[in-house]
Amino acid sequence: MKDRFGREIDYLRVSVTDNCNLRCVYCMDEKDNKFLKKDEKLTDDEIYRVVKESAKLGIKKVRITGGEPLVRPGVVDLIGKINSIEGIEEIYLTTNGILLADRLDELVKNGLKGVNISLDSLKEDRFNKLTRLGHVDNVLAAIDKAISLGIKVKLNTVIVNDINKDEIMDFVNLTKEKEIDVRFIELMPIGIAINYKGVANEEVLNIIRRKASDFEEVVRNQSGGPATYIRLNGAKGKVGFISAMSNCFCEDCNRIRLTPEGFLKQCLHFDYGVDLKSILREGVNDEKLKEVIYNNIYDKPEKHLFLEDSEHKELKFMNQIGG
Ligand code: SAM
Ligand code: SF4
Repeated sequence: MKDRFGREIDYLRVSVTDNCNLRCVYCMDEKDNKFLKKDEKLTDDEIYRVVKESAKLGIKKVRITGGEPLVRPGVVDLIGKINSIEGIEEIYLTTNGILLADRLDELVKNGLKGVNISLDSLKEDRFNKLTRLGHVDNVLAAIDKAISLGIKVKLNTVIVNDINKDEIMDFVNLTKEKEIDVRFIELMPIGIAINYKGVANEEVLNIIRRKASDFEEVVRNQSGGPATYIRLNGAKGKVGFISAMSNCFCEDCNRIRLTPEGFLKQCLHFDYGVDLKSILREGVNDEKLKEVIYNNIYDKPEKHLFLEDSEHKELKFMNQIGG
């Protein structure tokens, strides 16, 4: 369906939990994080119903995210159930990769088309510092296994000043030998991230230009997503740039988000949306549920205002919204 600005909205990001097995420094506090209780989160059946009605409105692609989606019990089956909904053509997962390797066979069997794995450092000591809890070998093993299973694999990397700028070329060079796209994602000033300084993608690209002699032309993004891409000469994968801060892609935005507590969110930046959990638990029928979703999608704001003040600015942390 189209929203009031004529954008085709066909992509739903479903965050299935705010909990996580890591504590990345720009995403969560180290201690005293308050997580939703089980009954505060949508059940599998409630998520299924929301996706089913959304599919009737034209949602074709679903991404499961979090928090860390793989810490939610039963998520592998939930992915299979969502994949079976009429109209859903593609289902993807965004994960930190820590628990991924062991689940991949079943995920692929259940219809998973691809995986975005977040990884900000290839060095064990730094990875452990950045995530406060993780070991990079688990993630690297998951990347190789996902490639071997033939699904689409993208790495999402956030470059933060004074932390991992020196690893930009290490990430770029991964695309030479591996069938993966590496995408640099600009840090957004959400939640605890306001305490960190991201590196603009223009600077990342300049570093690549200086250091990669076999740099090849920009390949325009064919998939309709927000990334723009380049490719090193002869490389198997591409290098992408998702520049939400320096280059707003809102006019092509095709997505809405469902938070773990059942709030259908129109835009990452705003607290606008609708509380679907309440109406689901009041016994709403499918027709009415579809109408509520329709109205919410239709009303999607024109663009984010990260760089401006707004009384409706989202104050939650990224793990609570769903990245
Ligand atoms: N736990 C999963 C993971 O790490 O992939 C899924 C959720 S996580 C919130 C999704 C993505 O959001 C990660 O790639 C993470 O680096 C990114 N992220 C978290 N906080 C961010 C911020 N303030 N700005 C930009 N990206 C952020
Ligand atoms: Fe967890 Fe992902 Fe946030 Fe890291 S970025 S703390 S892995 S939700």
